[in-house]
Amino acid sequence: MGIKRYRPHQGHTILAKWEQEELIHSIITQNVDGFHGEAGSVRVAELHGTLQKLHCQSCSKEYSSEKYMHQDYQCECGGILRPSVVLFGESLPTDAFQMAYDEAEKAELIIVLGSSLTVTPANQFPLIAKENGARLVIVNQEPTDFDLYADLVIHKRKIGEVLMEIEAAIEE
Ligand SMILES: [Zn+2]
Repeated sequence: MGIKRYRPHQGHTILAKWEQEELIHSIITQNVDGFHGEAGSVRVAELHGTLQKLHCQSCSKEYSSEKYMHQDYQCECGGILRPSVVLFGESLPTDAFQMAYDEAEKAELIIVLGSSLTVTPANQFPLIAKENGARLVIVNQEPTDFDLYADLVIHKRKIGEVLMEIEAAIEE
């Protein structure tokens, strides 16, 4: 599978380090690449699931996506395995959604990194956080409809570069 050619970048690594240092508490993502976990992040709400896992369509048992590499598409129960991602029209995983909601509610700070905030319900979390007293920072190439609610907006910058700059400033 081509997917495995890509790896987490420095931005993922910095976020994992910040979680270890308790600078951030959790990550909410719509990406299905599983890179946050691969980079070492532990508390990740993957709203659209992950390609790193498979599950059986019959009994729901989970497997690593390594199984696909070996062209093994069957569960031990005989059921067919599928990637654990949310497909169009399917509902979001409730545990990931609940985690994201809880984290947004109690956040002191929520930083949006590279999202145009156009996809519901993920785009609701910054507002939930904001309504509960959090500060909102939006880092995105283009302006978003949520910019007017933000305490700080950063446009036209690469996420990795912004995170590296902050990391360098923290280290000083
Ligand atoms: Zn099964």
